[in-house]
Amino acid sequence: MPELPRILHIATGGTIAMAKGPDGSMAPFQSASDLVAAVPEVQDIADVHMETLPEIDSSNIFPEYWLQIARVIANRYHEFDGFVITHGTDTMAYTASALAFMLQELDKPVVLTGSQIALGVIGSDGRRNMVNAFRVATSDCAEVVIVFGSAVLRGVRARKISAFAMEAFESINENPIGEIGISMRISRRALRRAGRRLLFTPTLDPSVALVAAYPGLDPALLRHVVETHHGVIILGFGTGNIPTEGARGLRDVVRQATTAGVPVVVGTQCVLGSTNMGLYRVGKDVLEAGAIPSVDMTPEATLAKLMWVLGQTRELERVSSMMLKSYVGEIAPCYEIMDR
Ligand code: ASP
Repeated sequence: MPELPRILHIATGGTIAMAKGPDGSMAPFQSASDLVAAVPEVQDIADVHMETLPEIDSSNIFPEYWLQIARVIANRYHEFDGFVITHGTDTMAYTASALAFMLQELDKPVVLTGSQIALGVIGSDGRRNMVNAFRVATSDCAEVVIVFGSAVLRGVRARKISAFAMEAFESINENPIGEIGISMRISRRALRRAGRRLLFTPTLDPSVALVAAYPGLDPALLRHVVETHHGVIILGFGTGNIPTEGARGLRDVVRQATTAGVPVVVGTQCVLGSTNMGLYRVGKDVLEAGAIPSVDMTPEATLAKLMWVLGQTRELERVSSMMLKSYVGEIAPCYEIMDR
């Protein structure tokens, strides 16, 4: 019998590993070996090795924890053919984005999965998601991906869009890179290419704030955020518009921030589409005040990327050109040119 691919399963908690406690609320308790014991068929797909990190609800994940996962993968990269990370769904897209920036030039799959219903509960999607994650982890896919329901999604393009459905994630501004059913289809753009060598850049500056613009936002709040962080992301309206008029406008705060060397990235609250900050006066004013457009990146990818960029440089010009460059497919090529 041919040898099975060697896969490292890293368990981090999440609903997939949860059970109800005495007060009726859910908390994680199952280790990687408990999960593999509950879904033993993964051992027919792969030679499974296991590592359990502190098991948490993914709402409790901080950037330091992303670094912990990334280090496990980088340190053990050559021992395995692929990696499966079981993780809570709530912040899975943030973790996937952070890993994608830190672990570039992959020549093997790094797959995140989880479930909407705990593995031990009737109707759980955990078994199917885990099996599918191992199927993708033993494929020629060479990216950080989320496998969930029938979708295989590029990590930096994924968003949790449903707190109800089993197909909880969607690919934003890009077709999913794959689909998994009776068989598996993975787009050529995500497959292993010759000559790749892991580029591990574990640099994260967690001093980044993500705030939404809203009618009535007090500029003093934004000023405080700017004064206390190394970088700020504002999710604007539509194509990247934020209030600019009069005393309640935010343009001066953006200008003060950029003059002080604090990058302000402006994105959109819309689920789909891109910033186009030259389109309206309100966007253009902020662009002229020094804002960096987030183009068509998801908020999750924008946050992880700004932390990763600021971990390498705080020089504003360089931050701006790195934010507008697509490293792992987080910006579509047409937008890379348009918003510069
Ligand atoms: N609160 C859970 C978590 O993100 C939700 C889930 O896993 O589905 O850890």
